[in-house]
Amino acid sequence: MSRDSFFRPHVDRMAGYVPGEQPRDTGVLKLNTNENPYPPSPRAFEAIAATLDDRLRRYPDPMGTAFRQAAARRHGVDPEMILAGNGSDDLLTIITRAFVGPGDLLVYPSPSYILYRTLAELQDARVAEVPFGSDWSLDPASFALPGTKLAFVANPNSPSGTTLTPEQVARLAERLDCPLVVDEAYADFASSDCVSLVASHPNVIVTRTFSKGYSLAGLRLGYLIARPELIAGLVKVKDSYNCDSLSLAGALAALEDRDYLAQTRGKILATRRRLTEAVRAFGYQVPESQANFVWCTGGPPAAEVYEALKAQKILVRLMRYPGHADGLRITVGTDAEIDRLLEALGPIVAASK
Ligand code: PMP
Repeated sequence: MSRDSFFRPHVDRMAGYVPGEQPRDTGVLKLNTNENPYPPSPRAFEAIAATLDDRLRRYPDPMGTAFRQAAARRHGVDPEMILAGNGSDDLLTIITRAFVGPGDLLVYPSPSYILYRTLAELQDARVAEVPFGSDWSLDPASFALPGTKLAFVANPNSPSGTTLTPEQVARLAERLDCPLVVDEAYADFASSDCVSLVASHPNVIVTRTFSKGYSLAGLRLGYLIARPELIAGLVKVKDSYNCDSLSLAGALAALEDRDYLAQTRGKILATRRRLTEAVRAFGYQVPESQANFVWCTGGPPAAEVYEALKAQKILVRLMRYPGHADGLRITVGTDAEIDRLLEALGPIVAASK
């Protein structure tokens, strides 16, 4: 072989995205990847079971028409403004492939969702990571860098759980001469969202997922809301059959069970309050979260706490961002799960003082 590698040089240079740990040991208390601790709506199970027929022999509807119509009804937009994806990560990939090429500039805040960098690297693009202000705001003038081809904002943000208001996001969109993706993976737990900006700001794309609020991370379904002209372009980039029949049917049923969403959401918001106060009482700094996780910094060395919890079969997410203190991102579980976490964490923190 005359070459060291068959890969294109930028692929060789990439570290690749490392997803959160997914242990198969069911005894582990898993508070590391922001899954919902409650089961999905029973209607999702019924809808999936009802799809187990001859439809599996055939390809799915490439546009997921029935799902698209339901999502459009839910948000009060035209079905032409909805595009479904194999999880919202699929949609983020489609968007990046559509708008960003080699050497182009992709902008996002820091610290935020680590996948954004990987998506840029895949396109051999350049990135600018714009730091959040100390109050987790973003200065539009610093964010909207000249020549930017695509910008991402996770809202609520991960790992901080903080949000920009729709007005603040609108200011960013107005400054940018490119699409602004508002990644609303956690919006089901927040008090506001940016869907209405799609009507007023033609460059805004909002992405949503069934993985968090709807307890369907294993199903892999997300969707985006954008102007029809943007959707028409993105359709050319996506795989023909990026969403399978079972996922589309299950997600549609879950979307329509709004009472169920409200119930599980209410429980998670109450537990989030309790978790936030308890970890603050342990001495952690915790921004007010609008998501289903809390971001804890300022305690004992995060890597040590992470290991000590892991030794007790409790998995949280250790997050390391260059230029920032290490932190622990803890998913909001059930009350009983959070009790178990707090009973383990309290003595670990106390022992380190
Ligand atoms: N955006 C953010 C900010 C996330 O944390 C995640 C979950 N890892 C996603 C998008 C993707 O979620 P999914 O692909 O499961 O829809």
